Amino acid sequence: MNCYDFAVVGGGIAGASLAARLAGRASVLLLEQESAPGYHSTGRSAALYSALYGNESIAAITRASRSFFDAPPAGFSEYPLLSPRGVLYAGAASDAAIIEALVRSPLARRIGSDEALRLVPMLAPASAAVCAYEPDAFDVDVHALHQGFLRMARAGGVERVCNAGVTGLDRDANHWQLSTATGSFRARVVVNAAGAWADRVAQLASAGSLGVQPYRRTAMIIDVGHQVDCGRWPAVVAADESFYFKPDAGLLLASPADETPSEPCDAQPEELDIAICADLIETRTALKIRRIVRSWAGLRSFAPDRTPVVGYDASVPDFFWLAGQGGYGVQTAPALSAAAAALALREALPAYVVDEGLDASRLSPHRFAQ
Ligand SMILES: Cc1cc2nc3c(=O)[nH]c(=O)nc-3n(C[C@H](O)[C@H](O)[C@H](O)COP(=O)(O)OP(=O)(O)OC[C@H]3O[C@@H](n4cnc5c(N)ncnc54)[C@H](O)[C@@H]3O)c2cc1C
Repeated sequence: MNCYDFAVVGGGIAGASLAARLAGRASVLLLEQESAPGYHSTGRSAALYSALYGNESIAAITRASRSFFDAPPAGFSEYPLLSPRGVLYAGAASDAAIIEALVRSPLARRIGSDEALRLVPMLAPASAAVCAYEPDAFDVDVHALHQGFLRMARAGGVERVCNAGVTGLDRDANHWQLSTATGSFRARVVVNAAGAWADRVAQLASAGSLGVQPYRRTAMIIDVGHQVDCGRWPAVVAADESFYFKPDAGLLLASPADETPSEPCDAQPEELDIAICADLIETRTALKIRRIVRSWAGLRSFAPDRTPVVGYDASVPDFFWLAGQGGYGVQTAPALSAAAAALALREALPAYVVDEGLDASRLSPHRFAQ
């Protein structure tokens, strides 16, 4: 039986991007339990890039990813990966401290209510009493990014097998035996890029759980009528993070920014979360929802400190983690995959990642073993 250097479990943005980075440097097998990669969190995101979003480590990885988004390798994508969007953070007078914290970053500037209402005229003035604007935020073409990484992986010789949920991980002296629905495979290193299932895959390998917890988030596409020309609006994020919305192909993508603990599963939206979102939008803006075109939910999986887990397991040899990307797995994928590939190959982190202030210990699974 062929023995690969790396078997990557999970074909979402994490597994696809790491496979692409390892391609050409090692033999790689990419295993996905669904019939196509991208069915779970990667295919359900809000597709936003904001370097203001998330903790310091996330912000560093997001900044380090920017050069890839702006200038991906030749042939990576026919379309630009980023399109200008901007984010308007809007709150009631009682949210002043939140806006104050945001404008401490050089990425955001305070704007007055008048300017906020010029940007998004349908905001209720009381909900835009204190505002900040982040101009350098973007819509991400997630499909192009994911497919680009999958193509890059294939061009570098990565073998991809779908309908191959890993159900067993057994280790002999130096190799892993992976049991899947479509047969068995052998690899020197197993990479856990299983998203919401990361702790489950770790259990198969007898590695301890790291407490990577999936949380359900709901999103919906709403039709607010043709008389509202929302195409050029920035994304609007409520300062209290109770909801957000952004233009999406002539309609609006909205979310109640919910975070409900969940088992790993094919997440589905709850009627109550959809109703909460619709109510918030209709009370905090002058928008009237004509129709909910579609709704969905996805899982955002976080480690306890909300920083991704990247590195070799503290106790089980040749078991590598790439998990816990939370709500930032798309915007961080370019630099996080480069960092992960370096660590998987036991090399130093790329200088452009270190220059943003990140070191391997902040990502390492060993931080939970102390
Ligand atoms: C509503 C919502 C909005 C979001 N908005 C943003 C945003 O604006 N910007 C941003 O950067 N991020 C956003 N995110 C987060 C982002 O989508 C995730 O961080 C990212 O997709 C995680 O990628 P992943 O590859 O780790 O997980 P997934 O895409 O879930 O991939 C994991 C894969 O592993 C497979 N798998 C699991 N177990 C096994 C097994 N045993 N064998 C084989 N395969 C297995 C699964 O089938 C799955 O395909 C959002 C998420 C949601 C839900």
